[in-house]
Amino acid sequence: MERVLIKELLSDEYIGRQVIVCGWVRTRRESKGFAFLIISDGSSQDTLQVVVSNEANCFEQIQKCNTGASVKIKGFLRESPAKGQRYEVEAQEIEVIGESDPEKYPLQKKGHTLEFLREISHLRARTNTFGAIFRIRNVLANAIHNFFQDRGFLWVHTPIITSSDCEGAGELFSVTTLDFKNIPKKDDMVDYSRDFFGKPAYLTVSGQLEAEFLALSLGKVYTFGPTFRAENSNTTRHLSEFWMIEPEMAFADLKDDMKLAEDFLRYLFKEVIIKCEKELLFLQNQYKRISLDEISKLSDTNFNHITYTEAISELKKSKENFQFTVDWGKDLQSEHEKYLTDKVIGGPVIVTDYPKGVKAFYMRLNNDGITVAAMDVLVPKVGEIIGGSQREERLEILENRMEEIGISIENLQWYLDLRRFGTVPHAGFGLGFERLVQYITGMINIRDVIPCPRAPGEIGF
Ligand code: ATP
Ligand code: MN
Repeated sequence: MERVLIKELLSDEYIGRQVIVCGWVRTRRESKGFAFLIISDGSSQDTLQVVVSNEANCFEQIQKCNTGASVKIKGFLRESPAKGQRYEVEAQEIEVIGESDPEKYPLQKKGHTLEFLREISHLRARTNTFGAIFRIRNVLANAIHNFFQDRGFLWVHTPIITSSDCEGAGELFSVTTLDFKNIPKKDDMVDYSRDFFGKPAYLTVSGQLEAEFLALSLGKVYTFGPTFRAENSNTTRHLSEFWMIEPEMAFADLKDDMKLAEDFLRYLFKEVIIKCEKELLFLQNQYKRISLDEISKLSDTNFNHITYTEAISELKKSKENFQFTVDWGKDLQSEHEKYLTDKVIGGPVIVTDYPKGVKAFYMRLNNDGITVAAMDVLVPKVGEIIGGSQREERLEILENRMEEIGISIENLQWYLDLRRFGTVPHAGFGLGFERLVQYITGMINIRDVIPCPRAPGEIGF
């Protein structure tokens, strides 16, 4: 007999049938000649109640069924006569696979703080909270692939190790095999010709430039992979290693890009409500930072749009005491983004047409000559979750722009080739996967939506 997942088990289909369930003991209590175990197996927000009569042969196993122990239970599923659960399993056989010392097991029945749980990342997925988050993460990852696959996008695999240091998206981690105790030098500089790749190499900050050449051959593509940023910003929304989704479309402009972003987010909200209702309800009740109704409403509404220039004038009008001054030409800080989503709009908003000075070199110059065809999707509480743009497809303008900000034209000849040979308008964006999960789950700290968070000074697991 094969084991049944709790997710499948708790249904009328299994009533009266003999089943095998495997999982970990959450709690045990004894009362009036029975022992009651609560078992979880990670497949569902639901736990399973196992009832063991003190007359059953397996009752002697009960004393080993401490919190944290792994067990294999054979028994019959029946409707539960008691309140609190609809189904339960009446045990006939219990095998304790791995015992757990209740004095030493770090997860106690009492609630733990999220900070404490971060110190035991190897066990925290056994809690209701992290079980919920990682199941939501899985459903979203799958939904992301489905969304693009259904719309003719090819999943492309861009490199993790790269030599391009010029994207300007963030600070880079070096990849090297040079011996730190004996670094080869030439003219007092590190001699990278003797390094593994013969020149400096880095962990990628974005797959966009490669996604562009793939879009300009394959039409519509997307990446979904890890990216790395060595920015020393110890915030609740920055990780040093995070996953990014970057669609890129040929024959598309900024409007198409925004439509894709909106359709995409609405689709993900819908999917997560359908597939993770229990998880979301748990998080809603436990932390009071999300609302299923709100997510559901969002999945059906158009996003608000505002230009950067309009945003600046709204911010200037406000009586808020911002830490960073508001000035046309300066980038929006997180406090400004928050004010826009929470106070001005009251929901997600897409900000467009930023000054060219605050955005990357590849963004398409608008006719005004001072702004670019960029768009950021901002959401309440988290801030920016998507950054995108129409890309500059005009060779001369792109070259001028690169010269203006000192980006090596020589190193990026391949990128310019795309504008030399059959150039087309194209556009794309990057969605930070953890920011999305953070927004949907309502977690305050981004470290709590990825199994092994990487941040400055943090590489424990
Ligand atoms: P921010 O201003 O919030 O640092 P950014 O402008 O550096 O973001 P982009 O370079 O446009 O971000 O990256 C695209 C997306 O990747 C962002 O919209 C965000 O969702 C996500 N992202 C960027 N940096 C991080 C990070 N350090 N940790 C987690 N997600 C990130
Ligand atoms: Mn950043």
